[in-house]
Amino acid sequence: MQTHNLGYPRIGKKRELKKACEQYWSGKIIQEELLNVSREIINENLKLQQEAGIELIPVNDFSFYDHVLDMALTLGAIPPRYHQVILNKSNNELDLYFAMARGYQKEGLDITAMEMTKWFDTNYHYIVPEFYKDQKFKLFSNKIFNEFIGAKQIGISAKPVLIGPISFLLLGKEKEEGFNKLDLIDDLLPVYLDILKTLASHGAEYIQFDEPFLALDLSDKAKAAYSKTYALIRKEIPKLKIILTTYFEEIGDNLPQALSLPVDTLHVDLVRKPEQLDHILENIPSNLKLSLGVVDGRNIWKNDLEESLHFIQKAIEKIGTDRILIAPSCSLLHVPYDLDLETKEESLPSEIKQWLAFAKQKIKEVALIKELASEKPSASCLEDFEANKRAIATKKTSPLIHDTQVQQQMNSLTQIPVSRNAAFAERKILQQEILKLPLFPTTTIGSFPQTKEIRNWRAQFKKGLISPERYTQLLKEETKNTIQRQEEIGIDVLVHGEFERNDMVEYFGEQLKGFAFTENGWVQSYGSRCVKPPVIYGDVSRPKPLTVFWSQYAQSLTSRWVKGMLTGPVTILQWSFVRNDQERKDTANQIALAIREEVLDLEKAGIRIIQIDEPAIREGLPLRKKDAASYLEWAVLAFRIASSSVRNETQIHTHMCYSEFNDIIHHIAEMDADVITIECSRSQMELLDAFADFHYPNDIGPGVYDIHAPRIPSKEEMVRLLEKAAQVIPANQLWVNPDCGLKTRGWSETEQALNAMVSAAKELQQKELAQK
Ligand code: GLN
Ligand code: ZN
Repeated sequence: MQTHNLGYPRIGKKRELKKACEQYWSGKIIQEELLNVSREIINENLKLQQEAGIELIPVNDFSFYDHVLDMALTLGAIPPRYHQVILNKSNNELDLYFAMARGYQKEGLDITAMEMTKWFDTNYHYIVPEFYKDQKFKLFSNKIFNEFIGAKQIGISAKPVLIGPISFLLLGKEKEEGFNKLDLIDDLLPVYLDILKTLASHGAEYIQFDEPFLALDLSDKAKAAYSKTYALIRKEIPKLKIILTTYFEEIGDNLPQALSLPVDTLHVDLVRKPEQLDHILENIPSNLKLSLGVVDGRNIWKNDLEESLHFIQKAIEKIGTDRILIAPSCSLLHVPYDLDLETKEESLPSEIKQWLAFAKQKIKEVALIKELASEKPSASCLEDFEANKRAIATKKTSPLIHDTQVQQQMNSLTQIPVSRNAAFAERKILQQEILKLPLFPTTTIGSFPQTKEIRNWRAQFKKGLISPERYTQLLKEETKNTIQRQEEIGIDVLVHGEFERNDMVEYFGEQLKGFAFTENGWVQSYGSRCVKPPVIYGDVSRPKPLTVFWSQYAQSLTSRWVKGMLTGPVTILQWSFVRNDQERKDTANQIALAIREEVLDLEKAGIRIIQIDEPAIREGLPLRKKDAASYLEWAVLAFRIASSSVRNETQIHTHMCYSEFNDIIHHIAEMDADVITIECSRSQMELLDAFADFHYPNDIGPGVYDIHAPRIPSKEEMVRLLEKAAQVIPANQLWVNPDCGLKTRGWSETEQALNAMVSAAKELQQKELAQK
């Protein structure tokens, strides 16, 4: 039996890489200093894993920005627009790499960055490789060799990790028409073979090929490409032991295919789909080893060792000890560094902490499992096992987790309305009698600029340097100011600005029961950006109102309508570490019940329009098509639980960003929000294609102002976008608004853009009236 790890977090335990990269980008440090930081992180990671008892330790899992971009650069998949960056002799490989990741605005050049998208169903974003019709590959970067040799220098014969050739192609995008990216394999494969040969010549014995697509829905063409590619690799490089990894899903119907590939080891994710083990064990050929991913690489819970041993025992009985590897389910990139760094009892009580494991703890678990599965585990291992059993047992019964009141509510969930009292058409009339909004009503998505000043106040308040009263006073002034500015601009439906919020999920989590927070629980989101997701450890409930104070205050300042602003249950779920002892859907429903109480309290407080943001609903979509319907059903239901109990006269809004809604537009309609505001402007209303076939029944505000860039759109531009929208959506269903919240923008650009937006709405109103 062997232990191995698929990948280790790389941002540094105190985000050293993030800080060094950002300093390098702003010219504060030279490249040598950045390289030093990276070497320290790599070496520390390697040593940690070695000390923990990991036998096959990954290299090339480190990345300055993104491991898919690393692969693209290694393979020489450099889009033509960056060739100019190379021509400048003062630039080296790393500068080119960062230019691809972040764009290049220097020496009179203005080159856009490569596109970024979500890494499967995680919150990590990768850089999308670009492929062109005459695409050629060649070995461009020596990163992987350098990292292998670097490990050897500190006495570690590591296992290089690469994205497998088929997954690499499938992750990319054809930037021209007239070819299929999978056909590039013939040109690509020789470069891969080259890399493998060189690694072997440096003494590599094992190689890890990540092929996550092997656990997704595959076309016949992709299946054929898998067979052909791996047969050729085996033939050309017979000695290298290849570990092929799948994760995030079950191999499922691709199993015959996966088991027939001539590799040394197949890795499977037994955390996501434990059920697949039996089937695999029944069918595995006698020359294939199996890597059992039993330690959760996606979540922060301590491993249930007893359960893991049960899987391993089963495998031992079928295929014997020698053919088994023990591992985390996937790369540990998606979990924070080290639980030992968490020392603040108020945000993470020790009773909760004892249930958690971060990367450093997880690799120890892997080694411990191996020990425990061996014939004679040491006394100290057995002690650790007992301690683990005790922690797991308390988790099953702890009153911190299990709240009888929440359980009762959940048992009577069926009594909660999940439909509004009247259909949308009728509601619209009732709402309009009260709201009296013009045609093409204008609004914003919620947040207004979070200036340095505001963030400073919050930091000082958290450190106890300013009193709660003073902090509230400052926020009140900012809110008042923002209401006034919106009135002056002439917006119809106002917002309070969200100045009291640091983050749209954290703000709610901090006030709800069942959530805990870490101090250093950072995970990479993209490049140097990291997030610190809350931990949902127990039954969720709302001890007291969350937002009523600010909404009511804002409404008291104006005779226009102010929209209440809430984060929806699916988004709170999606952007947190979620408990693993109940189904996601049950946790979503608990959050939905808490948000529902808030909605009703806002209504009672006289708030007539309430927005429940669900920007993350699309990204929660399961990776396998067959699972999509059931997810969408419970996700939509959670929204409806949160939103359906209000009176017909109360107008419910929702907001979504990150596009790509075309395939789920029917389900979005089923959410039955009176108004949806949606990201649209960057894709030039591409999204609207969906509306040509599907008549979205309720009101909709396709974003006309791209808030992701500092650029100010002109009135004419927005009029054009709205006219385009009006071709497929009836004018009396259209709202006028930006793409998303204005939190990251400055005041001056915001005011100019919103003024233009209001003028655009006015122009459309006049044109519409003139027609009648
Ligand atoms: N109401 C939030 C805001 O305006 C929505 C943010 C989001 O969609 N991500 O900031
Ligand atoms: Zn948004």
